[in-house]
Amino acid sequence: MEERGLVLIVEDEPTISELERLYLGGAGFGVHVETDGRKALDAVVRLRPTAIVLDIGLPGLDGIEVCRILRGRGDWTPVVFVTARDDEVDRIVGLELGADDYVTKPFSPRELVARVRGLVRRASGAIAGDVTTLGPVSVDSARRRVEVDGRRIDLTATEFDLLAHLASQPGRVFTREQLLSSVWGVADYSSSRTVDVHVAQLRLKLGEAAGAIRTVRGVGYSAADDG
Ligand code: CA
Repeated sequence: MEERGLVLIVEDEPTISELERLYLGGAGFGVHVETDGRKALDAVVRLRPTAIVLDIGLPGLDGIEVCRILRGRGDWTPVVFVTARDDEVDRIVGLELGADDYVTKPFSPRELVARVRGLVRRASGAIAGDVTTLGPVSVDSARRRVEVDGRRIDLTATEFDLLAHLASQPGRVFTREQLLSSVWGVADYSSSRTVDVHVAQLRLKLGEAAGAIRTVRGVGYSAADDG
């Protein structure tokens, strides 16, 4: 089976981590499990995982703290959060942690595998193309770099893919369903809030250039074609 890289699972409930290990392992990923936040931080440094499946409710240092510390170190390893409640999703977004994706318990293990796969594929595969400019924003698809007025900004893999997809056809309006399908590779339209969450994160990072992404009410989003 194709080697897809190592996934670090951080989960304190053995029944859940075993299920995650089973399915991610079955999908061809190497898997390493840690049961608390501090050990997880050490494991990230030691093992350099391709992606992290991070439970929020952990003893001691919780998943949100773990992600905050990683991002603070400039580590943008893709993270799929495992949340137990909707209000945890709001916390992730509010803190601008660069959560690339999340699943809410109870989740289907197949869905988790699909999310991890999508994340790894997007993080590793460069999109061929030139540099697109949207007013002060430049999107370099080959180098996966975004600059605002010449200043580089750090985006998660998903945020980058979302922006690059919108920027691939400035002015064109994409529905949430189209974006879910193209950027996330999922056809689960009940999760369209995921799109809104990531657009909100992206706009925060774009700062004064947030207008580069327009909301088309009742339809979806587009990249501004006139800056
Ligand atoms: Ca837990």
